[in-house]
Amino acid sequence: MPGYDILVRGGHVVTGAGVHVADIAIDDGVFVAIATELEGSATETIDASGAFVLPGGIDPHVHFNDPGRADWEGWDTGSRSLVAGGITTCIEMPLNASPPTLDRTSFEAKVAAASGTSFADFALWGGLTPDNLDGLPELAGAGVVGFKAFMSRSGTDDFRHAGDDTLYQGMLYAASVSLPVAVHAENDAITADLASRARAMGQTAIRDYLDSRPVVAEVEAIGRAIALAEDTGCSLHIVHVSTGRGVALVAGARERGVDVTCETCAHYLVFTDEDAERIGALAKCAPPLRDAETRETLWDTLLAGDIDLIASDHSPAPPSMKQGDDVFDNWGGISGCQHLLPVLLGEG
Ligand SMILES: [Zn+2]
Repeated sequence: MPGYDILVRGGHVVTGAGVHVADIAIDDGVFVAIATELEGSATETIDASGAFVLPGGIDPHVHFNDPGRADWEGWDTGSRSLVAGGITTCIEMPLNASPPTLDRTSFEAKVAAASGTSFADFALWGGLTPDNLDGLPELAGAGVVGFKAFMSRSGTDDFRHAGDDTLYQGMLYAASVSLPVAVHAENDAITADLASRARAMGQTAIRDYLDSRPVVAEVEAIGRAIALAEDTGCSLHIVHVSTGRGVALVAGARERGVDVTCETCAHYLVFTDEDAERIGALAKCAPPLRDAETRETLWDTLLAGDIDLIASDHSPAPPSMKQGDDVFDNWGGISGCQHLLPVLLGEG
């Protein structure tokens, strides 16, 4: 009779083979047996009858702002939220910690902040900005999973957006070391111009913000990023795609052999522009929440299998940064990592 460390008894166990009522045995932190009515005893037995037992999820896109801005939310509460929501691994972005993750020193500072604090396993993106092209090799050597770039303004002054020149050079380097480049794909000229026109007219409500980031800004930037990746041979990942048109561009490029993937976020699947108007700045994000018709096209592409990953893009800020009459000044970011998996299991 084997004596296990832990036995999880009678849960609806979700595996690649389907959902079955079964027992799970764990030794030294590793699943060692899954079967109906396992024999044996254990140091700890958990009755999971009536509950679903799933593998821990992976959230490929979170911001924990730590070190430097842990008062916005750091690894401690951020990772507690993750695991409370069924996510056991995250990949964390190179902003909005201070300093941003642009070189080996800042990478190591973030590893130090997360180690011993995070309740979830983690990996780190490095940044790709006009300020650190020379620093990409040391980031690669330090162990980043890839390089994240913004094609439009990031919202923090210490993480500048990449023009086409920076993107091109960054992709050439990333291809040479077989690391992916992830882009926030929105056209900066269009979005910055529309924002300044709105503000000049005193139009600073949430609807004005939504209108300043039209679908074409996303579609154009995705197409441009794909063209650069196709030519450089760089592996490209488009973060938080908010439209079915954007996903279709990715799917079409992949079909002709381009190494490109994309993700969307739960909030683009469940909220619309009307929710943004109802909720206000708390629902401000970039790209913005879209209309109901656009949301449906996103579901269609998801159900067709064209979206590779779903992320939270968890991006917390102090309440004071979500207040004020000018929505353009409010922080853009939605805090949703605890709800990613429940929303998908419920709505999906
Ligand atoms: Zn993000």
